[in-house]
Amino acid sequence: MIKILNYINGELIEPINGKYFDNVQSYNGEIYAQIPDSDERDVQEAVISAQHAFSFWSTLSAEKRFHWLMKLANAIQQNFEAYAEAETRDNGKPLTLSRKVDIPRSISNIEFFASAIQHFSSESHFMENSGTVNYTLRRPIGVVGCISPWNLPLYLFTWKIAPALATGNCVVAKPSEITPYTAFLLSKSCIEIGFPRGVLNIIHGYGNRAGQSIVAHKSVKAISFTGGTTTGKHIASTIAPMFKKYSLELGGKNPNIIFADCNWDKMMQTTIRSSFANQGQICLCGSRILVEASVYERFKKEFVERTQKLKIGNPFHEDTDVGAIVSEQHFNKILSCIETAKQEGGNVLLGGERALVNGCEQGFYIQPTIIENLPQHCKTNMEEIFGPVVTLQKFETKEEAIQLANAVDYGLSATVWTENIQTYKHISQRLEAGIVWVNTWLYRDLRTPFGGVKASGVGREGGWEAMRFFTEAKNICVD
Ligand code: NAD
Repeated sequence: MIKILNYINGELIEPINGKYFDNVQSYNGEIYAQIPDSDERDVQEAVISAQHAFSFWSTLSAEKRFHWLMKLANAIQQNFEAYAEAETRDNGKPLTLSRKVDIPRSISNIEFFASAIQHFSSESHFMENSGTVNYTLRRPIGVVGCISPWNLPLYLFTWKIAPALATGNCVVAKPSEITPYTAFLLSKSCIEIGFPRGVLNIIHGYGNRAGQSIVAHKSVKAISFTGGTTTGKHIASTIAPMFKKYSLELGGKNPNIIFADCNWDKMMQTTIRSSFANQGQICLCGSRILVEASVYERFKKEFVERTQKLKIGNPFHEDTDVGAIVSEQHFNKILSCIETAKQEGGNVLLGGERALVNGCEQGFYIQPTIIENLPQHCKTNMEEIFGPVVTLQKFETKEEAIQLANAVDYGLSATVWTENIQTYKHISQRLEAGIVWVNTWLYRDLRTPFGGVKASGVGREGGWEAMRFFTEAKNICVD
């Protein structure tokens, strides 16, 4: 049995209360690790350790911080396979995906922000009338909190800690209690390379205890959070009166808009991925497929046929397309959403049930599910499910497509499929979303702003946006 430990002041330590809870590997339902049930006392230790490290780390040259972060990225690379296997074990995602996406992206997140800090420059403004010069310093904030979800565990964990560390902050971070394993491996990598003590601290535990203690701690000056909208709302209500900086990357209910004139094969192949990759548990998955009426029947037939060919299986097998749902609780939530869809009059074209996988009978697998015949304003089409479940809706005109796309409270991303330049220009400008893909999906340039509008979040991450978030601007005007 693996015992996960907190990483505080450069050491792996037990939670002060000595309590642990089970970590279940969702692909076969077995308990394989114990997770610290940390509380505010552990967070307090982590904050003190980060405060001590701050004077050293924040004054280290950008070049030296670059070297430390590159060493860390390299340590993940050296243990690539162990990280990939850990991610699959913890999350249930196909190992092929951990190898192709999660771990390589975690490495490039760290490398990207390591090099970004060497190119991060401040502005200066000359005032002609007075002859004065303003220059703007961008200083690290201090101790910051980074809290990440379970769907892309190390990927999103590093997406936050890398810019925070690169800009000279010291970090108290918490991975999801459902998938803490790769963050634990990262703390071991830090120890291996002798990463400076206290600069990064990793606390494990429940959100409403360990997470809340980070958020509410008065010495934690900024919070970067990715997770559900309800949690985000709660976090904002805690920290807004404390005047902390915050960035909230929250849920989505993304439309995938398909016009008759699209490149059909490319659209079809990509739509299978954007619907069911990572078991539909990517915040950017397109869960509402809006199809132009003239090709609706053709789309429906081919989409069902192709989805049927996806292989649900043990995520460690090379030929598995669809792995396990992350946890029993989330598995039950998805199945109950499918029941709701049926009660709302949805016609289940494919799936809708638990899938049984040989040798993994206790694992949490759900068949890729396609549902049609639901109006826009029903629960199924309005609320995030975050599983391998998509709905199909028909539209007649561009205007109707826009209305349907924007009809939800969320606004994270959207995808448009058309070969007509006027159509995509018109639609992409009017979509209420932070990210729009045209004739593609999930290409993510680390330099671009990432984030959502409406209930999908506040603020942007990625590129200079993240570097600005993790620094405080101070303008100095000199005569
Ligand atoms: P969640 O909100 O339950 O948990 C996210 C993290 O917050 C976890 O580490 C959890 O322990 C912690 N947490 C929970 N309550 C807390 C509290 N009161 N104070 C501080 N921390 C707390 O989300 P989840 O179920 O882990 O992740 C799924 C959600 O994340 C989905 O809604 C998905 O759309 C969203 N998501 C969004 C993005 C994005 O970039 N917009 C990316 C990935 C996932």
